[in-house]
Parts: sequence; C-alpha cells; structure tokens
Amino acid sequence: MSGQQRHSRFERGEDVVVMKFGGTSVEDTAAIQRLIGIVESRLGAHPVVVVSALAKVTDQLLEAGNSAARGHLGEALALVRNIYVRHEELADSLLGASAYGSLDRELRSEFKALESLLFSLDASRHFDLKTQDRLLSFGECFSSRLASWVLSEAGLEAVHVDARRCIVTDSRHGQANPVWDVTTQRLRDTVNPLLQVGGIPVLGGFIASSQDGVPTTLGRGGSDFSAAIVGAAIGASRVEIWTDVDGVMTTDPKICSDARVIRKLSFDEAADMAYFGAKVLHPATLAPAMRENIPVHVLNSRLPEGHGTEISARVSSGNRVSAITAKRNIVSVEIQARHGVDAALLNTIFGVLEEHTCAVDVMGTSVDRISLLVGSNVALPKIVEGLQTVADVQWENHKAVICLVGENIRRQPEVASRVFATVSDMDVRVLCQGASERTLSFLVDESKAEESVRRLHGAFFPKVEPARDWGGISSAFCQAG
Ligand code: ADP
Ligand code: ASP
Ligand code: MG
Repeated sequence: MSGQQRHSRFERGEDVVVMKFGGTSVEDTAAIQRLIGIVESRLGAHPVVVVSALAKVTDQLLEAGNSAARGHLGEALALVRNIYVRHEELADSLLGASAYGSLDRELRSEFKALESLLFSLDASRHFDLKTQDRLLSFGECFSSRLASWVLSEAGLEAVHVDARRCIVTDSRHGQANPVWDVTTQRLRDTVNPLLQVGGIPVLGGFIASSQDGVPTTLGRGGSDFSAAIVGAAIGASRVEIWTDVDGVMTTDPKICSDARVIRKLSFDEAADMAYFGAKVLHPATLAPAMRENIPVHVLNSRLPEGHGTEISARVSSGNRVSAITAKRNIVSVEIQARHGVDAALLNTIFGVLEEHTCAVDVMGTSVDRISLLVGSNVALPKIVEGLQTVADVQWENHKAVICLVGENIRRQPEVASRVFATVSDMDVRVLCQGASERTLSFLVDESKAEESVRRLHGAFFPKVEPARDWGGISSAFCQAG
C-alpha cells in the first residue's frame, strides 16, 4: 500500500501539503484573514485545506441536541440561530455581495435541515450517537463552506469538497474508524483531479459517513485525524496542524505557563503524548502519517512565522523526558478473579468489554487481580453484570493518568525514582509501566492532576533565565527538542 500511495501523488515528485485549521484558527474575521495569508504562503506546495468547526460550535450543537431531546426546543433553536448569525456575520465581513449571496443560500438550506433535526429530537426525545453525529457534522459543513468561499473571494481556486462523500468509516458513531481502502480511493478520485487543475480542495474535518451513507464523526478533536487521513491517501509531502499554541509543548501551557515548544519529536513520542492526553493532537492522527512516513508540523496560526514542532520518523536524539501529559475522566477498575487469572478469564473479560465498546487505557494483572483504566463508566454496571459469575468488579471514578513520555525512559530507573520523589506525598495509587519503552504513567485523583503535572514539569524542565538558549542544553532528564 505504501509504495502505491507514494505513486498516487497527483503528479509524482510534486509537493502537496495538507493544512488543517482548528476551531480557534477560524473563530473570527481576524483568524480567517490569517488563514488566507497562511494558505497563500503555501501556494507553491499545492495546498489541501481541512477546517474544524468555528471555536465552540461543536459544543453548542451538542448542547442544542441535548436541550431539544429534553423538550427545550426554544433553547435549542436559539442556540443554532446564534450559530447561523455568527456565520452570516463572518460571511458579511469577509465576502462581497455576490459571494455572500451564494454562501447565504447554501447556509440557509443547511440550517433548515439542522432545525428540522432539532424538531425531530424534540418529538422523539431520543438522542443517540447516530443522531449526535448527524447533528455535530453541521459545524464542519458550515465552516468548510465559509472557508471555501472566503478563499475564492481572495482570488484562490478553492473548491469545496464534502468530506462525508470521501471519508468512509465503520458505523461506530461518535468515534468511527476509516475503511481505509474505500476512503483512499474516494479521496484520490476527488482530490487529485482538483489538484491537477490548480484547485485548492477545502474539506470539513471530523466528519465522514458510513458505507451506507449515514453521517459519522471521528471523535472529538478529530479534524487532526481527517488531515492525516487525507495526507496519507493522496501521498502528501507534509501535514500541517495549525492551532492556537506554538507547537507541541513540554506540557499543556494552560497548566504550566513555562511549558516550552518541543522542536522535534518522533512519531512514536507524539503518538504516546496524544494517547495520554495531549489535546493538541487527536490520538489517531499519527498512525496514518507514520505508515506513509509523512512529517506532521504543528504550528501557531497566530504566529505563522514560528518554527513549530516537526513530528517525523527521525531517530531520536537519545534518552530524555520529552513531555508530561494528563488524561482526565479516567475510571479505575479492579477485577478480583474468583479462581485466579488465566487465559480463559482474560478472554471472557475482553469479550464483555468488547460487547459494551469499552476501550481500555492501561492494564495490569497479578495472580488473582486485574486492574484496568477505562475512559468512561457508562457501561460499567452492564460489564459487572456480564462478569458476575467469574469475578467481583469494583471501580472508582474521577481519576487521572499522569504520563511522562520520552525515548527509552523506561530503561532509566533514575526517572522513575525522581517521579516518586516529586509526588511521593500525593497518594499515587498505581505506577504503570506502559507497554511502550517511552512512557511512565501513574494514577492520581483528578483533583491532583494539575498539581502533579506542575511539580513534575518543575522537576524535569526547570525554569531557565530568559536569556539562556535551551536549544543547546540537554541532559538525561530534560530536553525540549
Ligand atoms: P484546535 O482547535 O486547533 O484543534 P485544540 O484545543 O484541540 O486546538 O488543541 C490545542 C490545545 O491543546 C492548546 O490550546 C493547549 O491548551 C492544549 N494542549 C494540551 N497539551 C498540550 C501540549 N503538550 N502541547 C501543546 N498544547 C497542548
Ligand atoms: N469540531 C470538532 C470538535 O470540536 C472537531 C475538531 O475540532 O477537531 O471536536
Ligand atoms: Mg484539536
């Protein structure tokens, strides 16, 4: 597949760059004007543009759906009318009369469909994940139509592409998985001819459809994944994730204001960071990029000239802690086996978890006990019921996994001892050596997550005088790129 994909680049040897703009990078007139400038700066590299819904819109759509399903139709309609007005105002500030009229016609018909969905939710009072996907997909439909018209108005050859016709997934609503061969073919058939004639395809991220044409979504934050899917399908030379921070950082800058940009990361490290809670990338983003060896650059749309972070297959520069992450909303599950842990029990447990689509984050076993960390407690009562003949199950909510990521840190006992020393007074419940050599994680109460991250960041990335150049400093413990 890999070789085949490389040959599929719309003209062999030519660059294609997939540029994904997150919600804050399309949130208002100024952001969209910056987007135009950034896309213009890449014209020589044949851009394909992927946009998220405008900041907050996905949450507002979700709120509207919940309100309608509770019978508060008025509130729901008011929410979506605000979304409509916001798009109209942006269109008004960015487009001339004729383009405004055309976009307005497109938006009106989409908003009618959205309103009628809310009416049917009000009538049925039933808001399942399938309907949720249909509802949330409007956000990216609106933003991608808006972005496409705005880029055209700026004189670029933008062409709107409905991602739901190209990205085909299974029917796991809320967190669908691409059907790769169909998706690859459809993206090539749609995107490559546009690139060949100098067009700039503009797609909504996050949204897709199942093989029978029903709208699906790729999970919250899924536009990053969409960009990687498109990049892998068309053999892009790079994928750019344009966001609201300077790149992938040593930790979430909202937790530690002194977090610093990591200039270079391996695919593996970045994938581990995303998996363990670094929101800057959707956890599934790196796999397609890694498979096709396409570098991913994370860049700040508010400071487009910055270096950002380059994520690639490069060999790591050695042993270090690259970053610290926190994954919240974790449920810790203890399964006490009645007759010891064996393969048959594991089989039963995984069968029951699978039946209830319960994804396991981390797992540990002993002679008669299995510990699991899962991301949601919704299905746990049913899981307990399914296992009642073979095990006793107990769980605790409101936990967080704190994770240190870095090449080979598992082989460095001094990292673990330093972690212990830093958080020893904080009721660290489990220390989980992940399956990967690159992660070291532990469980704390969610209320202690931020303090743990701050302490560890202070220990592994001590503050430096502003004048010092961190680029040249490296140690066994810390290095930010
Ligand atoms: P977008 O809407 O552009 O997709 P997101 O909000 O999904 O943006 O992701 C960017 C946010 O991720 C940042 O504002 C930051 O708070 C958060 N974040 C969490 N961990 C990290 C990290 N290690 N490096 C950078 N940002 C991070
Ligand atoms: N708009 C979607 C969300 O808020 C997808 C994304 O932003 O990547 O989750
Ligand atoms: Mg995001």
